[in-house]
Amino acid sequence: MIDYHVHFWPHAQRASETDLDVERIAAYTELAARQGVREIALTEHFFRFTQGRALVEGWWDDLSLGGGPALRDEVRAYFDHHATADLDRYVEAALAAQQADLPVVIGLEVDYYPGRMEAVAALLSGYPFDVLLGSVHWIGNWMFDDLASAIEMAEWDRRGVRESWTAYTEALEELAATRACDVLAHPDLVKVAGHRPDPGVVTSCEDRIAAAAAASGMAAEVSSAGMVKPCREDYPSPSLLRRFAELKVPVTFASDTHGTARVAERNHELVAAALAAGHRSVRRFRRRQPHDDAIEAVAS
Ligand SMILES: [Zn+2]
Ligand SMILES: [Zn+2]
Repeated sequence: MIDYHVHFWPHAQRASETDLDVERIAAYTELAARQGVREIALTEHFFRFTQGRALVEGWWDDLSLGGGPALRDEVRAYFDHHATADLDRYVEAALAAQQADLPVVIGLEVDYYPGRMEAVAALLSGYPFDVLLGSVHWIGNWMFDDLASAIEMAEWDRRGVRESWTAYTEALEELAATRACDVLAHPDLVKVAGHRPDPGVVTSCEDRIAAAAAASGMAAEVSSAGMVKPCREDYPSPSLLRRFAELKVPVTFASDTHGTARVAERNHELVAAALAAGHRSVRRFRRRQPHDDAIEAVAS
């Protein structure tokens, strides 16, 4: 099987370019192989790289996005901490791993930045990426999934759960419509902190998320990362996973490990959930071209 979502560094750790080498990547592929996972996608965050920051610098200053100065300052500090690595060096290390015949594809996790996606896509088109994940980590300039920040978590009460889910869904629809990325990462991440609106709102948001994925041609990832968060559920929920199957949205499988601790975590359970929901194939990518294989063929 595949793990199409791995990171080099935990969020608390600064990016270290000494980690960007073939030996370190081999540690991931060896751990994956022990779980029966034969291909991984390196998908470091776009915001880890100085080239990324240069393109999106200052989007957090727009207070019309709904956040006040405190949220603006949080995002700026977040970028100060995270955006220190060199994208060229990252891609070179991934290419070297491919040349050493390690079973890796070269990817990136790209966030949705309103109004900046054309520039982001133009930058990324100059690199030999195999796959780009698209994520919504910010609603405006609110980092709704930064569980460690009291300022960010207080926004849930201020905005309301129903409004937050709806705003997340709108951002995801906008991201999908840009067609800048190949796979929707953790499609219902809005549940991460454990706040859920009434079931009718959840269903309506899930229907919109599935429709946005289908209209864009993107795949959706099935991720074990939600189970270790307050929501205590994989992404997507069982009902959204079924909705993806009904609309023929292809799937990938993901751990979203930050560091090697969770490589390929519970991969077999994710595959079983996808099969139970009606999915029969898994999508892989080479140089942004999709290839679908029967799940059974890849899992054996
Ligand atoms: Zn993410
Ligand atoms: Zn991630």
